[in-house]
Amino acid sequence: MRYSKLFLPTLKEAPAEAEIVSHRLMLRAGMIRRLSSGLYSYLPIGLRSLMKVEKIVREEMGRAGAQEVLLPMVQPAELWQESGRWDRYGKELLRLKDRHGRDYCLGPTHEEVITDLVRREVRSYKDLPLNLYQIHTKFRDEIRPRFGLMRSREFVMKDAYSFDVDDEALEITYQAMYGAYCRIFERCGLDFRPVEADTGSIGGHASHEFMVLAETGEDQIACCTQCSYAANVELAPALGLTAYSCADEEDMRRVHTPGKRSVEEVIAFLNVSPSSLVKTLVFICKNGPIVALVRGDHSINEVKLKRLVGIEDVALADSATVVSATGCEPGFAGPVGLAGRTRIIADNALKTLKNFVVGANEPDWHLLGVNWGRDLPWPEFADIRFITPDDPCPRCGGRVELKRGIEVGHVFKLGTKYSEALHAVYIDDSGKERPIVMGCYGIGIGRTVAAAVEQNHDSLGIVFPAPIAPFDCVISIVDMTDDAMSFVGERICSELEAKGVDCLLDDRRERPGVKFKDADLIGIPIRVTVGRRLREDGRVEIKVRASGESVFLSVDDAADEVFKMLKDICSSRRVCSFK
Ligand code: ATP
Ligand code: MG
Repeated sequence: MRYSKLFLPTLKEAPAEAEIVSHRLMLRAGMIRRLSSGLYSYLPIGLRSLMKVEKIVREEMGRAGAQEVLLPMVQPAELWQESGRWDRYGKELLRLKDRHGRDYCLGPTHEEVITDLVRREVRSYKDLPLNLYQIHTKFRDEIRPRFGLMRSREFVMKDAYSFDVDDEALEITYQAMYGAYCRIFERCGLDFRPVEADTGSIGGHASHEFMVLAETGEDQIACCTQCSYAANVELAPALGLTAYSCADEEDMRRVHTPGKRSVEEVIAFLNVSPSSLVKTLVFICKNGPIVALVRGDHSINEVKLKRLVGIEDVALADSATVVSATGCEPGFAGPVGLAGRTRIIADNALKTLKNFVVGANEPDWHLLGVNWGRDLPWPEFADIRFITPDDPCPRCGGRVELKRGIEVGHVFKLGTKYSEALHAVYIDDSGKERPIVMGCYGIGIGRTVAAAVEQNHDSLGIVFPAPIAPFDCVISIVDMTDDAMSFVGERICSELEAKGVDCLLDDRRERPGVKFKDADLIGIPIRVTVGRRLREDGRVEIKVRASGESVFLSVDDAADEVFKMLKDICSSRRVCSFK
């Protein structure tokens, strides 16, 4: 490919819309352009990287026994009504009507459509197992699209759905998918961790997320420093308990705390530790308000709370609801006197607390020296907070570290949730009808490219992992008016292309500095510079983008050396096993 013909508009500065480095660099490198909120066009080199990820995904999915299909993006409402998700899915589901007034949606995921396909075709246990996938555009009307391809509204996803006879067979498929995912992200050159995850609105029995480790990741994961345990903090059990205190019970007393609402304000004003304060949070769900209590230095985990109450739609209440539930506005609400009026759930860490501070359910007042059993009844205790580095590893009791990650893939054991709702059944070997046991497996293709950039960059630009770089090698001809240089550049380019190397020939009539800057910005793994040295001693420079190391070689040896270097770069992968 000739640079002079390529649609590759690079930018010196990133547009103000870009908040994180991958978004900035993908815009600057001319990979993507924004059309509207959460909607992006992929320019030629952006699409090249995307297609390289897709190629790896196709190879590994095929290797794991999955077959590619392509399903409609526009989906009829009836199917979603049948699964019960038409009402449950919420505003991320973009609903539309056709000219006849029939309801449809743009597919945010394809469980319904694939289950409909399979229920019509599969009859017997002999038709199973089946694993079908597609690489296609999804639409989710995200509340806050941001970070470019990382969280867009329209995005390319690989979604696979497996169909098995029973849980045991699903387990085998799940492990095969897990292994395929490890190989996919290894081959993409990413530093990632598979972590235990919540099953969210899709539902199901078990799931793992594949997290690319990066400071800007929207997810937080808890990793054990001693064993292989890793989980999304949404799910990781918080098991740390402080010992029962031997302190005497103080008298409960009211204290005036004018205008002191936040934990910080109250502890500073009363000169107490945050761990002796109990935060009172009011949530609202279809069954009415719920009062959740957590320690001042802990954070409420809404995913755990939702799981506990078994309702998906649980949200922090607005001021009016807090007033009607507690008789007092937020900041001064407290659990004393609320028993019997509303469900109160206290975090496990509060079990051992004595003489704590709570809101007095009266504006500008708090209660000090509060004790369970005496001042308020013992409440229902549960794990409803986020794990902290002070909590032990839930598997081995070791030390836990918190890290940030970008979720690039997700595997779920769905069980019979969709097959039962949509009546997707098969006849087993004894002639009995049974629901098909399903799994589903997603990879964000665009998010994977963005995560690779987020994880691999320096002050000059992107440092693409070689397997997903838009080009393997750029050949920069320093002076296009020099016939010898252009000839050698063309020759090395065709030799490399004959070996299957993706080459970009920088044949622009630009200054060398401009060419080098662009090559570094785009992050092409190897640059061959055909310049002054050619005239001096007949050699060209081969420079590795990641390490900055360079060698000078004769024109005859250049293509072989580039090919060897690329092979070396691509084969240095990590190994990951099923955990
Ligand atoms: P998130 O928690 O980030 O919203 P999700 O759990 O809703 O993602 P899944 O339903 O598991 O996502 O979708 C499978 C994969 O699709 C995700 O692992 C992610 O890589 C990708 N993905 C999901 N939402 C988006 C989005 N808005 N933009 C880009 N990629 C996305
Ligand atoms: Mg997910």
